[in-house]
Formats: sequence, C-alpha cells, structure tokens
Amino acid sequence: MKVFLGGARGSYPVSGADKVRHGGDTFSLLVEGREGGQVLIDAGSGVRRLKERFRAGGVLFFTHTHLDHLIGLPMLAKAWPRQLVLPRGGLPEILARVFSPPVWPVKLPAAEFPVPAEPCDIGGLKVAWHPVAHPDGCVAYRVDEPATGACVVVATDIEWPAMTPRAQDAFALFARGADLLVFDAHFLPAEAAAHKGWGHSAWTDAVEAARRCGAQKLWLMHHAPGRTDAELDAVAAEAAAAFKGAVVPTVETMTEILHE
Ligand SMILES: [Zn+2]
Ligand SMILES: [Zn+2]
Repeated sequence: MKVFLGGARGSYPVSGADKVRHGGDTFSLLVEGREGGQVLIDAGSGVRRLKERFRAGGVLFFTHTHLDHLIGLPMLAKAWPRQLVLPRGGLPEILARVFSPPVWPVKLPAAEFPVPAEPCDIGGLKVAWHPVAHPDGCVAYRVDEPATGACVVVATDIEWPAMTPRAQDAFALFARGADLLVFDAHFLPAEAAAHKGWGHSAWTDAVEAARRCGAQKLWLMHHAPGRTDAELDAVAAEAAAAFKGAVVPTVETMTEILHE
C-alpha cells in the first residue's frame, strides 16, 4: 500500500515564504494498493499534486463537504472519478449547489454517486468509515489491504475532546492497529480551550488517539491556515517527543509505503 498526501492545510489554501516546506494546499490523500486499486479521500486544493497519479475511473470518497475538502474538484476534470461517495448521501445536490453559476462557471463531468454498503472493496482495498465529531457531520475512513495487512486511518476533521469516552472508545476500536493514523492537529494545545465546538483537535489529542488506537505512525494534519513552517517544526519536535511515530509531513515527505 502506498499513501500519497496532496495537502495538509486546513480551512483554506495559503501561500507565503513561511509556508513553503509544509505546503499551503488543503487536504487530499490517495491510497494505492499493490493490485492497483486507488482510493482518493477528499479533493482539497492538494488534489493538484495527486491528479497525475489518480487514474480516471477511480473512486473519490468524501469525509464531509466543507469547502476546503471540495475546492480542488474541478482540477480532476482530466482524471475524473467514475464514482464519488459521501456515505450519508446527498452529494449530487451539494456539488450542484457549489459548482454551478454564479458560484462556479463550469459544470462538473457526469459521475455516479453510489451510497455503498460498508465496507466496500476497491481493487483489493477494503474501505470502511466511522462518524466523528465535526460540525455538519464527518466520517473517518479506514483503508485495509488484506493481501499485505497494511492499514491507514484518515480522521482529518475531528474534535476529539468533544467526543464522549464511549465515542472515543468506538473510534479507537475502529482504528485499531493502524500502521498510519492521519489525524486532525489544527490547534496548538494552548489554543484549544478558546475553540471548543470548532470541530478540530490539537496535536496532543492526536497523540492520545494514536496511543489509544495502537497506531505505529501518526501524521498530524489540517494545520491552521496561519501556522508557519517554523511553528509546525516546533509542533513536530514536541509531538515526536511525546509519541515516537508522530510526523508533520513536509511536501518532500508526503509519501508513505506500508507493508511492501
Ligand atoms: Zn477541513
Ligand atoms: Zn470541516
């Protein structure tokens, strides 16, 4: 299994000399199996880094439909997914609202919008999902490759402290034994108290979740738009001291190979 990260930023894309190494694109992640199955999760502006790799006819799964997870969708026009999936349904209506005049001038290509049973098989990859705490609803995805035993769990928008102990246990069970956990680290711990209900976690929550799940590696994700490279380096150092496998991916380290 190979994992390719297109963008790690939250809320909206940013640029600037102090945001080069960790990048300014919003979230998009591609999982590719040994047999060639491809699961694309979300289409933030980071999809521009993945669109050459993603094959037309693949499947795009949405965690939810906030703009930062949709905004790159028109960039996929030449490698258009055959199926777009939002587990709770209603995706065609939402996309038609966003990608139609006068909000956006070009209509999206035709696609299928199935609401598949869980887990579903995509070319040797098993995809399952689990609800998490986030405004308007959101899911985390678990992608397993039974042939190799590789597993990645993606929880990009999740407010860990807003979840009851029971809901946290259920998440830990869902994500049990992940080789790689991709988890929301939007806030610094000192910022979290002032942002209750905003739908995001701090890196300390991500570390707690990774421990509870027994994850090997943790990618901290969905960085606040204003967070600079230097601040993210500081987060990376603190998080790695707390949890050995914690990483804040840079644009050079946005690829991970699991069990090959
Ligand atoms: Zn988001
Ligand atoms: Zn969101």
